[in-house]
Amino acid sequence: MNGSLKLGQVFGIPIRLHWSFSLLLIYMAYAGRNYGYSINGILWLLGFILTIFLCVILHELGHAIAAKYFGIETQSIDILPIGGVASLKTAPKKPIEEFSIALAGPLMNGLIALCIFPFLLWLIPNGLRYFDSINPYRDNFLLLIFATNILLAVSNLIPAFPMDGSRVLRAILSMKMSRYFATGIVFFLSACFSLFLILWGMNIIQVPGLNTNPILILIGGFFLMSARKEFQHVQVIHRIGASTIDEVMDKDFLLLKKEDRLLDASKALVSNTAKDYLVVDENNDPVGMLAREDILQKVTSSPQQTIGEIMENRFHKLRPIEKVNEIYFLMAHNHLRTLPVFNDTTLVGMLYFDDLRKFVEAKKKGK
Ligand SMILES: [Zn+2]
Repeated sequence: MNGSLKLGQVFGIPIRLHWSFSLLLIYMAYAGRNYGYSINGILWLLGFILTIFLCVILHELGHAIAAKYFGIETQSIDILPIGGVASLKTAPKKPIEEFSIALAGPLMNGLIALCIFPFLLWLIPNGLRYFDSINPYRDNFLLLIFATNILLAVSNLIPAFPMDGSRVLRAILSMKMSRYFATGIVFFLSACFSLFLILWGMNIIQVPGLNTNPILILIGGFFLMSARKEFQHVQVIHRIGASTIDEVMDKDFLLLKKEDRLLDASKALVSNTAKDYLVVDENNDPVGMLAREDILQKVTSSPQQTIGEIMENRFHKLRPIEKVNEIYFLMAHNHLRTLPVFNDTTLVGMLYFDDLRKFVEAKKKGK
């Protein structure tokens, strides 16, 4: 993320603080002063915010540790004024993985609260008598940290994107239905939740015992945007999943003849930029593949050699109905650059990995 300060590295994961976090501290100090806090009171308030953000880092580390258990690396942990983000290098594959990784964050806040609890009993013999103010000071500091961690655990379990609860619910639903459909259901719940926040913020609906605040409209909008983004992302994977390679393959391709000499073949390459060619025999039956660079390399030393002498005899055949996502991984994994596509025995196209990669990238961008 741009404009971030690297705080350090935990388990090899860089932890970065966004510059806008300093604005939050300045704003809180300013608000504290306006409320008539003493310097001491402002310092307690800032110390409280920093401690909560330490808890947020631990929450994100919870996700990262669970991800590592399933062999998924975490790129970075970014801390913003609105919370933290652990960016995983690859998405969890199975519902149980998504379930565990999502749940690990709120569980970490639960664990922090559990660790604080004995100290609370020790520090506050008279029970919750210091829970008289939401302004942190020496006597209620630990109690407020405890309460905030409970609040973080519970609020993160709300089943609306981008909260962890949305992923927990999606993972549970995905065990019974497709991930696409499960995301659709959670998207609907997220939209309802956003609408509720917006209407509450506009004071159209009231929540007993709680005041309204115009900032709820912004938060509702943020939730709606996050939900839309998540749904679109899953939609792209779904769309790629439905795409077949006949949408991507090149139908206008050059064939080389087995008996042609390299000198003649190289002339035909001038007006063509493909990296690999299919070679056919005198009956137009495919017999091999040859790379452009092999022809250009050998044409100067042995121009009279034939294509058939230097071609690769073995090649993998595709069918036009094969799925884009499967072939993408097949080609990437085996470093295959070009594959011919056959409809039964008729050659119908050539599939280039470069085109396939561009197709997948474009779908990711929603084109
Ligand atoms: Zn989380």
